[in-house]
Amino acid sequence: MQLTLHDTMTRRTRPFEPLEAERVTMYVCGPTVYNYAHIGNARPAVVFDVLYRVLEVLYPRVIYARNITDVDDKINKAALEEGVPIGVIAARYTRAYHEDMAALGVRPPVVEPRVTDHIPQIIAMIEKLVERGHAYEAEGHVLFHVPSFPGYGRLSGRNRDEMIAGARVEVAPYKRDPADFVLWKPSTPELPGWDSPWGRGRPGWHIECSTMAEQHLGETIDIHGGGQDLIFPHHENEIAQSTCAHAGREYVRYWVHNGFLKIEHEKMSKSLGNVRLVHDLLREVPGETIRLALLLAHYRKPLDWTGDLLAQAGQTLDRLYGALRRAADVEPERPDAPPEAVLGPLLDDLNTPRALAELLQLAKEVNTANSDERIAVAAGRLRAGADLLGLLAASPDAWFGRTADSDIDVERIEQLIAARAEARARRDFAEADRIRDELARMGIVLEDGRDGTTWRRAR
Ligand code: AMP
Ligand code: ZN
Repeated sequence: MQLTLHDTMTRRTRPFEPLEAERVTMYVCGPTVYNYAHIGNARPAVVFDVLYRVLEVLYPRVIYARNITDVDDKINKAALEEGVPIGVIAARYTRAYHEDMAALGVRPPVVEPRVTDHIPQIIAMIEKLVERGHAYEAEGHVLFHVPSFPGYGRLSGRNRDEMIAGARVEVAPYKRDPADFVLWKPSTPELPGWDSPWGRGRPGWHIECSTMAEQHLGETIDIHGGGQDLIFPHHENEIAQSTCAHAGREYVRYWVHNGFLKIEHEKMSKSLGNVRLVHDLLREVPGETIRLALLLAHYRKPLDWTGDLLAQAGQTLDRLYGALRRAADVEPERPDAPPEAVLGPLLDDLNTPRALAELLQLAKEVNTANSDERIAVAAGRLRAGADLLGLLAASPDAWFGRTADSDIDVERIEQLIAARAEARARRDFAEADRIRDELARMGIVLEDGRDGTTWRRAR
């Protein structure tokens, strides 16, 4: 059983060999927690969750780290707008991220490091880079000196001019080279900051990932993942920092990047007003439908998020759960190993569309099996294959029950929420509670936030 993965660095699909035979390390750039995750952010979470599941079949130990970026200028901005400390924003959206990802069947990583827990280590790594002549201090900033690392640009394949243009690097008078990037920057008193040899300040984004990867996974990691947008400059900069801090040792053995998600053929962007939050989508469709929709395209291809895609995902799940329903009265006989038919395509650079086609084939075998014994075997294979993709964890009854109420009366819910807000305004808390209970009986959970009350389906 050999896994092959496309490696962005060599631009080839290569057999995967971890540094140590029995232990695999994987680092994936996680969310910056200043808002709810959108459906594009969910793509790497789901894709690398599938890779994590496949790796666990193949290796006794898989150490998967996915960080939380809880220091960032976007978080500062959100905190300033709301007049709350940055910790409030970070905690709120970290929790939302965990809830949303759980709803998509994304398992938590083994370690989930946060930047704010790693400031001393970040400072130590920057000091090392300064000592070794790869970084310098200028006006309270510390900058990485790009010409000090000859390998710069290999991952993205960009030449110097393209890199400078692409990074939209600020032209700052204190930079020795226009491509130099920030490792540490000074904070004004109202901004979050930590004491450092260069005064009170905060880390740049790239150094955070280099430090957390080193801290939790070691100097050389097997797989580093993230969306394609991160190849340049983020991952290029991570390579420069880590390689120079580790005396030239290889930083990452396989670079794996997922393609971008578009909305109805268009780039998803705030200015186009087409950003779809997972949090909102979960009110319309079950998380499993979203997960399957994200796996319908190969992870390296662009994915066009359309109404058709969700409909196709829902129908596929109906067929798969339909087969399990036929097997409801027999105890599925779990095979010892996941079925080759589903594992095979996944070993081939995570070919999820083919793996899903194979699942449908297994469902057909359940439907055409002509004895209880055969049904039990086929259903066991279907469940074991689906496990690899993180699908079919529910019971068929729960699935069909949930989709049956997908025509829940949104208008009625909104009316009840408005009535509850009125009751609360006139301090009639008994009535407000009664309405909350009524909604709970409809399977609706309320969340009171600063911007009013939102609702979601109980899971
Ligand atoms: P961010 O919170 O912006 O740092 O993004 C978190 C992860 O989501 C990164 O791995 C990004 O590459 C990925 N990502 C952001 N937007 C998209 C998109 N439209 N399609 C696919 N991946 C995305
Ligand atoms: Zn990162």
